[in-house]
Amino acid sequence: MPESKAKIMRHCIVCGKPFLAKNVNSVHCSKKCSDETYRNKRRAQKKEQERQSIVKDSDGRQFLTVLQVYNRYNISRPTLYRWIRQGRIKDYNPGDRMTLIDVADIETLLEVRKNPFEEMPQKRLYSLEPEDCYTIGEVSKKYRVSESTVYATIRRQSIPMRQIGRFVYVPKFDIDKFFKSAK
Ligand SMILES: [Zn+2]
Repeated sequence: MPESKAKIMRHCIVCGKPFLAKNVNSVHCSKKCSDETYRNKRRAQKKEQERQSIVKDSDGRQFLTVLQVYNRYNISRPTLYRWIRQGRIKDYNPGDRMTLIDVADIETLLEVRKNPFEEMPQKRLYSLEPEDCYTIGEVSKKYRVSESTVYATIRRQSIPMRQIGRFVYVPKFDIDKFFKSAK
């Protein structure tokens, strides 16, 4: 076949650059590009393997191994086992060395953790509208402390403040709470 000796100009399937193909099967311009294709194939294979290795029962529930839970949700092994011990999550043990977790259980638990009303203290919303605030002068008068004490308190207690014109406003709620408990 004389044509096979002829040099073929092709475009690399990875980077698109034109190159001189050594033979009819060459599709890459360089080793770098052929490695790229190889890596992509491996990645796809691994994903497919993981997809196939997810156990399903007859009800269509999906189960993950401890490693799969880590890979998918970034939940470490000790954390997962702690949740199992605490009874927050159920483990299924089809074999001695195998722990399987129901995907729905994990997702339910994660939903609960995401819900701020369940576990996280809710962050108070501050109103910095002037009607909800004192000026520094007002605080100083009301609680008979110097303005510098008021400022120091605001800093120490991380009380938010807002400046409008010449006045600095601080929420009445936080100021009252602090100075009343300090008395
Ligand atoms: Zn290339």
